[in-house]
Amino acid sequence: MTSLWPRLEPLLPRVEKPARYIGCEDGARTDIYKPEATSWLLTYPDTYEIGLPNQGLQILYELLNERPDAFAERSYAPWTDLEAEMRRARLPLFSVDTHRPAAEFDIIAFNLSAELVYTNVLNCIDLAGLRVRASERDDSDPLVGAGGHCAYNPEPLADFVDFFVMGDGEEVISEITDIVGAWRVTGKPSGSRDTVLHALARIDGVYVPSMYNVVYDGPKLVSVEPRHSDVPPIIQKRTVADLADWPYPRNQLVPLTEVVHDRLNVEVFRGCTRGCRFCQAGMITRPVRERPASQIREMVSKGLERTGYDEVSLTSLSTADFSDIEKVVSDTIDEPGTCGRVSIALPSLRVDAFTVGVAAQVSRARRTGLTFAPEAGSWRMRQIINKLITEDDLYGAVRSAYSQGWHRMKLYFLTGLPSEMDDDTLGIAELVQNCVEIGQEYTKKASVTVSLGGFVPKPHTPFQWFGQNEPEELQRKVDLLRSKVRRNKRIQLKWHSPGASTAEGITSRGDRRIGRAIEYVWRRGGVFQEWSEHFDLALWQEAMNASGLSLEWYVHRHREEDEVLPWDHIHAGLHKDFLWQDWQDALAGYGLEDCRWTPCYDCGACTEYGIEHVVASPAPPNGGSQGTGQDLATGHLVPVELRPRAGIGGT
Ligand code: SF4
Repeated sequence: MTSLWPRLEPLLPRVEKPARYIGCEDGARTDIYKPEATSWLLTYPDTYEIGLPNQGLQILYELLNERPDAFAERSYAPWTDLEAEMRRARLPLFSVDTHRPAAEFDIIAFNLSAELVYTNVLNCIDLAGLRVRASERDDSDPLVGAGGHCAYNPEPLADFVDFFVMGDGEEVISEITDIVGAWRVTGKPSGSRDTVLHALARIDGVYVPSMYNVVYDGPKLVSVEPRHSDVPPIIQKRTVADLADWPYPRNQLVPLTEVVHDRLNVEVFRGCTRGCRFCQAGMITRPVRERPASQIREMVSKGLERTGYDEVSLTSLSTADFSDIEKVVSDTIDEPGTCGRVSIALPSLRVDAFTVGVAAQVSRARRTGLTFAPEAGSWRMRQIINKLITEDDLYGAVRSAYSQGWHRMKLYFLTGLPSEMDDDTLGIAELVQNCVEIGQEYTKKASVTVSLGGFVPKPHTPFQWFGQNEPEELQRKVDLLRSKVRRNKRIQLKWHSPGASTAEGITSRGDRRIGRAIEYVWRRGGVFQEWSEHFDLALWQEAMNASGLSLEWYVHRHREEDEVLPWDHIHAGLHKDFLWQDWQDALAGYGLEDCRWTPCYDCGACTEYGIEHVVASPAPPNGGSQGTGQDLATGHLVPVELRPRAGIGGT
């Protein structure tokens, strides 16, 4: 086994945070190298601190390392200081577990959780010593794979990645390992790379871009069609039916240095059917699959004992929606041996599910930060995005929190939403000011941090047809809100760069031609584009011009109903006509109920795959508020006009 450690170690005193590169975490595997086994290098294309806690990566790491005929190690994007040292010393990308060179692995697989990391993906492939374009790599090179939420529009990276995985990776990685393992046994003979890619393309949930022809008519995409009759025209996502079968990670990694989400993370459910129309994660991860409460208790108990953490995060897309959340929280706090010192983080909270009961349970332990996401400042706007929470819901949750001893909280909002008007933006200021006033009834220290993001329409959502606001317009809205809250010292406003939202727009809904712009930005040093100190909108604009691509076409224009979208050949379970109808309902102001508790709308996520929601409770745990809204003029609760429940899917 080749270890690059003797060459890496002398470079570390010269770089920031050298602990990023040494591995040695509790839970890491350094004993798993097997020369005859199929090897994966699971790579997170951002810094170690961001990538280490990623649960998807840790789950696959454990699953692969349980196989006798495979093993997995991890890699993270080196920060720019180490990259410069590595290039100077001709040191390639390495695993942090055993410091083997990336090119010695059979598969380098990237986790794509944000579009702005795409240039880092190219940089890591290049640092591994491979050609960045997939068509120029040969039989001896590792296969380059990718998965994660952004893979649901794989086209912008299609020229650089050999295969993509759609959906839950737990089962499919095993099938990929079998095929690559068989290829390995043959010694990867000359000319066989295409054959193994062809075999991968026949696995459900795997997309191999080189097996598909793309046809354009001017700027318009006409089709993405398979080159072989045995390769599927539509790639179906993979979904694990029951989380109870996958109690992973069992051995969460405990880092030696500070990372984000540095606590025990236990996934309590996957999927969300609240139907927020801007939310890609909610749409593509349907249906809801709750983990049994007894398994959560066991994972918490064993995890705390093994890791020594004193904080547990119960993760999901909307944790307070979990059936019997109060009991799970109280069991966690009362975990034997912790003396009530364990604190709970509930990272994704809906205000209509955060009751005094939940607040009281959480506040029994050390209080962690509290974040709510009303998303929009007016009822009209929340109806359009289908986030059907009333002002009373928000104020109730805020009151619950302040009454149980919290002093500050964070509220997330979006701007640049479809049909947004200045009144909607100014409504944010009013909501937040009212929250501060409620807090001051309980404590003079009450404060609220507002986090404002620029809305980027995402594939596989009802808003995928919407033309994104230009950066100047987003900035104007930010300034409008700033001017309104500036004088209130109890409100702190933070906002996401409108320029970064524009670059995210280029990469999120781009077709295969956008790869040229990504490569252009990378070749001119544009890495770590998620980081404000490295982000440069002018470079993206220059890249689009140099590639002959129009920002207006890719980002700011509305799409037509019959337009072929770059991700139409990827099926996230949702029927396109369901999404279009939901887009029309949004514009007409219709809401859509949470199908966990109502008859099915036949969006396709369950019906297409013969699976169902897995929820313990037959009714909303906290009553929910779907079905009522607040009249802006009178402030009274009024019924929300909900879309009829007949199934509308089918194509
Ligand atoms: S198929 Fe029906 S029950 Fe399943 S997520 Fe879609 S609307 Fe809900």
